[in-house]
Amino acid sequence: MDTLNIKINGRDYTVPTGLTVLEACRYAGVEIPTLCYLKDINEIGACRLCLTEVKGARGMVAACVYPVDRDGMEIVTNSTKIQEARKTNLKLLLSNHDKKCLSCVRSGRCELQKLCNDYGVDTVDAYKGAMNQYEIDDSAPHMIRDNNKCILCRRCVAVCEKNQSVAVLGANERGFNTHIGCAFDQDLWEVPCVACGQCTAVCPTGALYERDETDKVWAALEDPTKHVVVNPAPSIRATLGECFGMPIGTNVKGKLVAALHRLGFDGVYDTDVGADLTILEEANEFIERVQNGGKLPIITSCSPGWIKFCEHNFPDFLDNLSTCKSPQQMFGAVVKTWYAEKNGLDPKDIVVVSIMPCTAKKFERSRDGQSAAGVPDVDVALTTRELARMIERAGIDFVNLADEEFDAPLGITTGAAAIFGATGGVMEAALRTAVETLTGKELESVDFKEVRGTQGIKEATYNVAGLEVKAAVASGLANARELLNRIRRGEANYHIVEIMACPGGCVNGGGQPIQPANVRNFTDLKAIRAKALYEEDANLPLRKSHDSPVIKVLYDEYFGKPGSHKAHEVLHTHYQPRETYGKDR
Ligand code: SF4
Ligand code: SF4
Ligand code: SF4
Repeated sequence: MDTLNIKINGRDYTVPTGLTVLEACRYAGVEIPTLCYLKDINEIGACRLCLTEVKGARGMVAACVYPVDRDGMEIVTNSTKIQEARKTNLKLLLSNHDKKCLSCVRSGRCELQKLCNDYGVDTVDAYKGAMNQYEIDDSAPHMIRDNNKCILCRRCVAVCEKNQSVAVLGANERGFNTHIGCAFDQDLWEVPCVACGQCTAVCPTGALYERDETDKVWAALEDPTKHVVVNPAPSIRATLGECFGMPIGTNVKGKLVAALHRLGFDGVYDTDVGADLTILEEANEFIERVQNGGKLPIITSCSPGWIKFCEHNFPDFLDNLSTCKSPQQMFGAVVKTWYAEKNGLDPKDIVVVSIMPCTAKKFERSRDGQSAAGVPDVDVALTTRELARMIERAGIDFVNLADEEFDAPLGITTGAAAIFGATGGVMEAALRTAVETLTGKELESVDFKEVRGTQGIKEATYNVAGLEVKAAVASGLANARELLNRIRRGEANYHIVEIMACPGGCVNGGGQPIQPANVRNFTDLKAIRAKALYEEDANLPLRKSHDSPVIKVLYDEYFGKPGSHKAHEVLHTHYQPRETYGKDR
């Protein structure tokens, strides 16, 4: 490794070449504040919080874009002059900001608020003058946009365009009137936003946030006429602990269940049952398409952000999509049909609450074709962040809860379902079932490690009963776009493709706990959170969806077999082309 010898704050360090001042300081263990910087996708030097002094440079430089390019470079990160400049810049940001911290969803977890505290900003109206006033955009089912709290850092613009290739957010107008919005200032739900929520996860302030639906859950829990069941998605156990200060990647499954019991749900079940069911149906659909000349590649349908993206941008692939509902929707459909019948409940009196990694689940539950019993399969989809808020408000000491088990029967699940939360997990789970079904033999190893890992696009080929099965996995919609364009152009062909809207899959979903950029930029959140799920899989006694006793009961008692008429009525859905503007980018 080529290195450079530099001085930071008077101390000698040896750092690799090719770094910026920000990266070199981080490498040396010296933190520099940032607001706009997002590694690799938003390195624009706009917020001026990372100002530093470099000997020989004219004035102060923005550390996030200034290269460390010579031996002997001398950097100062923390002089009183620098501190004063950062403080002034914070006051300037506040001069056009509503400063309503007391009623702000991000208070206590706001990067702007924290820096104002850190830098001793002692007045919020140092620069009084005209202020912009914006209408709140609450047009979308999944999130709210409040430009009155926006600091124009453009992180949202960068993730939407560069990670997701959706590009519905941008800076409108110029100068003092500059504001973040959609083209021609349309509302968010008038443009092809796919509801992924990735923008809400990177916004440093309360300008973008999930639509809070916790009031609906509190009301249902208090209503004696309602039977309220809850189901957390596989990834929630690997992330919820972060909301309570626990280390990233801590599996809090037992505490999660205990907290849900304390909140008073009538049934605390596991979306993993829906995931196991999805695998039975999807593997069957895959095998049928292979054996009967159906549309290939079959593409997974668990990720509602991906589905909406496909409907807007790749309508020619809609017939490739698996018709399986997502695990959230399959779970809800089973509760409103089989479970309702078994327990003598009217589906209208059941409230299904999902805890999801994803804001797009709020949109998915209201789609057509998601009402197996004539009422919505799922009534409320909360994000991980909303659940954390409920736990806090209920006064539950989450960190010190003793572990509890999910309720029977819809809480007994497999390792195959646990890994749904990581990119490649659905593919691996489907292969475990499809291979055993096609070969009629038990797998020697259930680990399909080639499809694991956080790369944006992964490929693998498996010989299954004489057929070379070509598989591809993409996460993040920019990667999905690239993969689908390759298939469109005839440069690649596959039998089975898994696509997740969020980079790294659900563990990095738009509804997951927000980590500030100084953590996000230098920590592989996706990999650490996914590790917790793969460990859970490895330690579970059942690791294949078709071995689940609950799944066996569901088919014996209700569905007959995968792909049956009943299964199609309850567990499958349909898609629709949606308008979009512009040509495929
Ligand atoms: S965005 Fe931050 S600084 Fe602004 S009102 Fe909310 S908590 Fe306060
Ligand atoms: S929710 Fe996703 S698609 Fe919509 S604006 Fe945010 S990042 Fe873009
Ligand atoms: S909405 Fe949030 S992420 Fe987007 S520019 Fe404003 S402050 Fe930054």
